[in-house]
Amino acid sequence: MASIILKLEREKSLLRRHPWVFSGAIGQVNGNPASGTTVDVRAADGAFLARAAYSPSSQIRARVWSFDPDEVIDVDFFRRRISAALARRTIFFSSLHFPQANGGSEGGVTDAFRLVHAESDRIPGLVVDRYGDVLVMQILTAGCEFWRETLADLLLEATGATAIYERSDADVRELEGLQPRVGLLRGVLPTTRLTINEYGLKFLVDIEHGHKTGFYLDQRANRNRVGQLAAGRDVLNCFCYTGGFSIHAARGGAKSVVSVDTSADALAIGQENAALNGIQVDVSTGSTTSLEWLEADVFTGLRKFRDQNRSWDLIVLDPPKFAPTAAQAEKAARGYKDINRLAFKLLRPGGILVTFSCSGGIDAALFQKIVASAALDAGVEAQIVETLTQGPDHPVSIHFPEGAYLKGLVCVKG
Ligand code: SAH
Repeated sequence: MASIILKLEREKSLLRRHPWVFSGAIGQVNGNPASGTTVDVRAADGAFLARAAYSPSSQIRARVWSFDPDEVIDVDFFRRRISAALARRTIFFSSLHFPQANGGSEGGVTDAFRLVHAESDRIPGLVVDRYGDVLVMQILTAGCEFWRETLADLLLEATGATAIYERSDADVRELEGLQPRVGLLRGVLPTTRLTINEYGLKFLVDIEHGHKTGFYLDQRANRNRVGQLAAGRDVLNCFCYTGGFSIHAARGGAKSVVSVDTSADALAIGQENAALNGIQVDVSTGSTTSLEWLEADVFTGLRKFRDQNRSWDLIVLDPPKFAPTAAQAEKAARGYKDINRLAFKLLRPGGILVTFSCSGGIDAALFQKIVASAALDAGVEAQIVETLTQGPDHPVSIHFPEGAYLKGLVCVKG
């Protein structure tokens, strides 16, 4: 087998079971491995450290499959890893066996959740989301690209899904030297606009054009939480995408919900989602919640609201990743501070700010500092009453803390 020999004393992170081998740590590559094939990773003295997928174009030159010298990387290996990932989901999600989706109407929390979360499930580069009976698979690394057909077969075998749709079009593929690929991979799929259940609400998911694999599954429990906090409140949902937080807030009895996003497509689906759940647009028709959908940039939109003297009782800020890595943290911090400062100003006294960061480059402590300095600049007192994070279908490997990317604070304005 081809192998990678590390430079002297560069084995520390692997001994701690962190799954990445950076190009700078590598002293020598033996055997001319092809992209995605398996290599042994050895310390400078030749000691076995790990078995990994080789990625010649990436700064992360190899990603570990196994730390066990006796474990062979073959179909059975992936069958075991997928099976372990599914077993972790059975703790939280009632039915895994397809086509019996046990979400929504049958009383489960949902029929849409992440089955495989890449490094955190010890399959670096593989993301698999389940939407009812359909799987959406996203391949992000050369290693998983090499095993693509095997992974698709195993996922069908393990779940009985009616179709697998591939959404391998994330930007990070470029770093791995991979072209984007989107389309049906297995089974039959009459439509790429699916309807899922989430805490008894229905959501349309466009798996062909939607963000990520179609829906922000990681925010499921936090949307439900906002629903519980919304009764009688005027709600502003910034970066609303297809209205997840908005629909939950409306169902929870919000007086009004204003939803802001730059994506006209997402807003259109948001309106369909409102209709799908019987949430009326017009107060005069007897609905309890008035909904307003606004195609706007949040940075300018919040300033406009300030100039118009508008105010709210509950504001949600769920921006996209401003800092994918620590290198962009400073610029990202300015962005987070700006929107949080404006939101604190727009909140009525006693109002609630639910603010998130999904930036890997900003950890929970830094995010809290940013929100604190936003409150300071806004001249307000505030209390953190709850901290939020990603759902249990987005686990964090104990050896891969980078997997904990979603941070949320529920603050009450003093
Ligand atoms: N809260 C949503 C997910 C938000 S994802 C949910 O629960 O489903 C982030 C959203 O921000 C995307 O829909 C994207 O279109 C939008 N967006 C990105 N930059 C923006 C900007 N500057 N102003 C407004 N919306 C923006």
